Amino acid sequence: MIMGAPGAGKGTQAKLLEERRGVAHISTGDILRDARRAGTTLGREAERFMAQGLLVPDDVVIGIVADRLAAQNHNRGFLLDGFPRTVPQAEALAEMLGKGGEPLDAVVSIDVPEDELVRRLAARRVCRQCGAMFQLDADPAARTGRCDRCGGELYQREDDREETVRARFDVYARDTAPVLQYYRDAGLLREISGVGSREEIFLRVLASLP
Ligand code: AMP
Repeated sequence: MIMGAPGAGKGTQAKLLEERRGVAHISTGDILRDARRAGTTLGREAERFMAQGLLVPDDVVIGIVADRLAAQNHNRGFLLDGFPRTVPQAEALAEMLGKGGEPLDAVVSIDVPEDELVRRLAARRVCRQCGAMFQLDADPAARTGRCDRCGGELYQREDDREETVRARFDVYARDTAPVLQYYRDAGLLREISGVGSREEIFLRVLASLP
């Protein structure tokens, strides 16, 4: 599992692990954004919360992850990105994994100072098509507004705008920080610095895995 405050780089690192290690990447944020784009009931329900930087209710995201874990072929392992974000979600996950006899190997938390997070989120642009991420200043796309990988359109996530970012930090401190403590108590937490290039951080992620 990979954790981190908004802008810490968990999505970027999760995609690298998926590409280079072949692990199944399960991102609740990506699943919810896909549902929103497709205009499904789930997408419409989630939208109200996401647009305000609030968490989607526990039962909704727990259901999504349960379906994914049941459906996915994860011979080469799986990686949870953006889930669990509350202690009840962590408890539900423990129950699901317990039943399948597949305990978590590690919980990697990527730590980045808050002023750096604010800067990154303001500069973040995401590909509408493949989800690749760029930074306007530090890691721009070669062609402005177009994804280097697939040519898709780059956009700023609505919840990366300043007003919403503040709400997301508050939610992280209130609801998600206790999840870190939950995994620290379980002896699974590995904290790494998320400052540096994406390759440097990727090496830290790999070194932290058992
Ligand atoms: P992310 O892409 O992980 O930053 O998630 C984007 C948004 O999706 C969050 O701000 C929440 O509104 C929602 N979301 C994603 N994962 C969860 C989760 N595990 N629990 C509740 N809401 C979630």
